[in-house]
Amino acid sequence: MNELSQKILTSYQVRKSREQKRIFQQLLQDHFDHITIDKCGAFGSENIIIGDIEKAELIFSAHYDTCARLPFPNLLYPKNIVKTFIYQLGVFFALFIPSIILLSVIFVLLDVPEIFTGFIGAFGALIVVWIMMFGFANPHTANDNTSGVITLVELASVLQEEKIAYVFFDHEELGLLGSSAFRKKYKEKMKKCLLFNFDCVGDGNTLLMMPTENVREKLNQIFEQIGKTEAEKQIEIVSAKKTFYPSDQAGFPNAVGTAAFLTNRFGQYYMNKIHTAKDIVCDENNIEFLKNKICVFAREYLK
Ligand SMILES: [Zn+2]
Repeated sequence: MNELSQKILTSYQVRKSREQKRIFQQLLQDHFDHITIDKCGAFGSENIIIGDIEKAELIFSAHYDTCARLPFPNLLYPKNIVKTFIYQLGVFFALFIPSIILLSVIFVLLDVPEIFTGFIGAFGALIVVWIMMFGFANPHTANDNTSGVITLVELASVLQEEKIAYVFFDHEELGLLGSSAFRKKYKEKMKKCLLFNFDCVGDGNTLLMMPTENVREKLNQIFEQIGKTEAEKQIEIVSAKKTFYPSDQAGFPNAVGTAAFLTNRFGQYYMNKIHTAKDIVCDENNIEFLKNKICVFAREYLK
């Protein structure tokens, strides 16, 4: 990893408040030329762009905002939506039930009028949303998504040409707001341009690439040619339609989502540390592997 990547990994992992994001933006501005802060959308998302979107045929992206710290990991099985959904529902109730109990105690102690106590469920749900979105910043974001940010930094340091741009999306953790605003702003452009997104690529030996139908064949063909493995690392290409991985690539017509996964003893892919204090794994070999593969991919793709 280069010096800037090391610096981001050691000292700039928290990018949640406006001030923390500004400091990170400045860090990139000091390092790269042709960089702009593209403020867009109703929520004032500040996407960072390196290069010229209008001239680009290939855009690499990763969200740079970071999440709130939760007591439970965001366990995710990309090939098993039912299992993931049940788990997520469990997490919701694990936060919702204590919220309701706490609210009930407060309501009793303060003798709150009945008109409010009737909405206790709604208040409880709001508390859960608040904790998930606006709670205390997670100090550890090595995988989600410092790994993606570093991947872009590494690529942008060695792969600079007119047909390639890099976008660091804002507000992914608040519901893909930065990328949605970008998608609307560059709607026509993105009909012809490929978006290659990296979100949580640092923990696990399998890099799952999830292309939309429009680009699946071309992606398959290029990676068949350039190879999908190196030491213990491997790329597996699976249809985005049949895989559950909500991130910034969602909604783009020509897109590839990329994330790293661990494998359990039944051979199922999973991710188990993000959004908690355990998010401390960003395997340098993953970044190196991706950098090497993506550089060759980009040259082939733009031929
Ligand atoms: Zn993420």
